[in-house]
Amino acid sequence: MAIQWFPGHMHLTRKTIEERIKDIDVVIELLDARLPGSSANPLLAELTGHKPTLKVINKQDLADPERTPLWLDWYNAKLETHAIALDASDAAPARKLIDGCRKLAPTRVGLSRPMRVLICGIPNVGKSTLINTLSAKRQAKTGDEAGVTKQEQRIVLADDFYLWDTPGMLWPRIIVDQSGDRLAASGAVGRNAYDEEAVVLDLLAYLKHRYAAQLDERYKLGLTPQEVSELHDDELLEKIARKRGAVMSGGKLNMQKASEIVLTDFRGGILGRISLETPAEFETWLAEAAVK
Ligand code: GDP
Repeated sequence: MAIQWFPGHMHLTRKTIEERIKDIDVVIELLDARLPGSSANPLLAELTGHKPTLKVINKQDLADPERTPLWLDWYNAKLETHAIALDASDAAPARKLIDGCRKLAPTRVGLSRPMRVLICGIPNVGKSTLINTLSAKRQAKTGDEAGVTKQEQRIVLADDFYLWDTPGMLWPRIIVDQSGDRLAASGAVGRNAYDEEAVVLDLLAYLKHRYAAQLDERYKLGLTPQEVSELHDDELLEKIARKRGAVMSGGKLNMQKASEIVLTDFRGGILGRISLETPAEFETWLAEAAVK
């Protein structure tokens, strides 16, 4: 599907990360646990000059608990990458982050300056939430020092470990067809850049095969998983519209309203813990995209 990205915004992002990267020892890329492949920006390695990267699979409370470990293994098998999972309710994520970063850059013995870390990620992946949690108690302002013009703050997570409090914004980079609609479903894409009904039909096309029981339970469809999976996507959305009273005067179904209901339920975890891709599926999609 066509999702609009703005070159100006991309240019600015690239510049911010490039400016800061010379001082950074480890990059943290926040990923959405519901789509840990599609929510990564494959240009990050290039942008950061292949700095060691900690992949933090965030929002794991919303994702399928059987799938997140598969993604951790997948990322941990890659060079110069270490992966951990987090969610916003994690009261003390600092220890996990520090340990994770130290695994990636262990050879700092004898270096006098602290390890410096930058959090990056696509919109809505949880950067501000994580930074707020981390900065709740400990922070030091560098902007007051003479000669420091940028009002930038660092969060001191340990004596030898600093984190910049302004995240590096990445844009979603869609490299396989399946990613566009799913990124939109997850909330990573601005509301005006996609058609909600199209995004929901794509979401239902996936969910009806993998998470039919959850759909049946939430929308009281009264169908077996087999029956749910055999429905056409638009038929399924129509049934949901009817069950949830998304009907206009005259009895016509309000598909827009039904789409909004499904999106809200999915984003809020009300449909249950769901992941929209496994490493195996993602690799298949990558291979398909490569031969196109
Ligand atoms: P940013 O655009 O990357 O800075 O994302 P935000 O920090 O603003 O988070 C976007 C939304 O995701 C907010 O509504 C957060 O409350 C929510 N959020 C962030 N982290 C988590 C998490 O681990 N679990 C859940 N369920 N929601 C989260």
